[in-house]
Amino acid sequence: MRYAILADIHANLEAFTAVLDDIGEKGDIEEIWCLGDVVGYGPDPHRCIEILNQSRHVCVAGNHDMAAIGKVETTYFNSLAANAIQWTTGQLTPDDVQYLENLPLTIQKGDFMLVHGSPMEPLWEYVISTGIAVRNFTYIETTYCLVGHSHAPMAFMKDKDVGCKPVQLSPGIGLALGDNKMIINPGGVGQPRDGDPRASYAIYDSERQMIHLYRIPYDIDTTQKKIMEYGLPVALASRLETGR
Ligand code: ZN
Repeated sequence: MRYAILADIHANLEAFTAVLDDIGEKGDIEEIWCLGDVVGYGPDPHRCIEILNQSRHVCVAGNHDMAAIGKVETTYFNSLAANAIQWTTGQLTPDDVQYLENLPLTIQKGDFMLVHGSPMEPLWEYVISTGIAVRNFTYIETTYCLVGHSHAPMAFMKDKDVGCKPVQLSPGIGLALGDNKMIINPGGVGQPRDGDPRASYAIYDSERQMIHLYRIPYDIDTTQKKIMEYGLPVALASRLETGR
């Protein structure tokens, strides 16, 4: 079976639909595993929740998802994020609010734990170094853990000699899953931050025990125009074309 792994859609409808089209073209996907932050920053929170709900999927809560429904305070956010959250809250329908309210912090799917930030701090911690990854391995009861939050594709593997090693996760190079614990981030769909503005997502193939990363170009111009038109911070538009 094959599963699509998506993180940080961030209300970017153009990026999200481009990824869904790519998933459709590749075909044969059993379920979408969504790692949270469906909303926040971007101009289409309602549509993104609506479209996600039309697909067979599971989803964990992200910090922006919880802030948009008042479950965490925006004082923890920088001004750009807080500004967008305030706007996002006003765009949500009662059904959207109910959907976000019901998102769990973690989900287990077979050998995988799904969480937005980290197993230690599901909403807030960025797993962006071997030091942070190694502290989190003890909190993972499954073999593999899928995380989002940093918007950058990366992977870490538990290692008996040095504690933890980074593992390459790039388009065209499959990541082979073995017996060692791993923490894997598929990058961000709606606001990539690794310098590549293309939407990022991954597919897990359970028969081959492989994860493949994909980068998908999308209509950034349209998303930027909506951000400007709706009065969201200009920086949220400009960062989409640099992927930073
Ligand atoms: Zn995010």
